[in-house]
Amino acid sequence: MNNRIKILDESTIAKIAAGEIIENPASIVKELVENSIDASSNNIVIEIKNGGKTYIRITDDGIGMNEDEVEYAFLRHSTSKISTAEDLLNIHSLGFRGEALASISMTTKMETLTRSKDSNKGIRIFLKEGEILKKETIGCPLGTTMIAKDLFYNIPVRKKFLKSDLAESNHISDVIYKIALGNPNVSFKYIKDNKIVLKTPGKNNIKSNIYSILGKDFIENLLEINYSDNKLSVKGYISKNDFYRGNRGHQYIFVNGRWIKNIQLTKTIERCYKSLIPINRFPIFILFIEINPSLIDVNIHPTKQEIRFSNQNEINNIIEGLVDKILKETMSIPKVKIEG
Ligand code: ADP
Ligand code: MG
Repeated sequence: MNNRIKILDESTIAKIAAGEIIENPASIVKELVENSIDASSNNIVIEIKNGGKTYIRITDDGIGMNEDEVEYAFLRHSTSKISTAEDLLNIHSLGFRGEALASISMTTKMETLTRSKDSNKGIRIFLKEGEILKKETIGCPLGTTMIAKDLFYNIPVRKKFLKSDLAESNHISDVIYKIALGNPNVSFKYIKDNKIVLKTPGKNNIKSNIYSILGKDFIENLLEINYSDNKLSVKGYISKNDFYRGNRGHQYIFVNGRWIKNIQLTKTIERCYKSLIPINRFPIFILFIEINPSLIDVNIHPTKQEIRFSNQNEINNIIEGLVDKILKETMSIPKVKIEG
């Protein structure tokens, strides 16, 4: 009898799985930079060419990998960050699914150079379709360099849907700005088509970090928030009532260092500005929430950009109170107009 139903071959299965994690060059940048942060790096250099479609290179000075680790890192579901399902209840790292390197090596031509402190020699590997083609020892500094070239060279249907160089590089910039804002303790250098477009100080100063990423205008028009109780802390900045934007592009919430979307909290903050700013205008905020990882669930979406708070209402109320109070305080200071 003719059976229409077949099990897909391994390579097709792997390509489909990889496509869920890697949508575009920006997803590669995000995954690789997050790995560098998880590796305790102080300095991360990101270089892209042609909107990241032909070339992405991330160099870090983190813990690196030894020879055995490099072999494992590119396998699907291989991770050093969790070992059991219980660990999902208490995640301290940005990654934990062990899928990124496998997916990137499935969809690009990859090269990795890495050295951990256990060894005075580094390792260089070349990969294609998820397989290690060549491995050699080589002198290199402590840390890791990941190069991913020619995205979707082997998946033409996906390649066809990549956008223009400009659109893809804007997407990457967006990812890098978010990650850089969320990690003021790390210095980021971003090189786009041979030009340095961003360099952050990495001195763990939120304000000077915002200045290097968003500019002077922002610094001058933001109000500081600083709160902590025994369950959570909230630090960061919100915009003055006369500083707003036509979209939500400058609203950033970081929870334990991870940039997240949380519509409920966003709406709560916007409500505080409701009678203060024109309709269809949006406040700016850059908030850092630190909370016990067991009170959040980051494992509800593969890209980990949405999270669930177990005490969402409580968090909304706390932040609403803080924002209201700060706005009221600054509104009550009469503005001195300097004529001239
Ligand atoms: P995950 O980040 O979810 O663990 P990845 O596929 O992104 O999965 O990475 C697999 C493993 O490779 C990581 O758990 C980590 O041990 C190692 N690794 C990846 N990138 C780096 C890096 N830049 N420096 C050191 N180790 C790394
Ligand atoms: Mg990862």
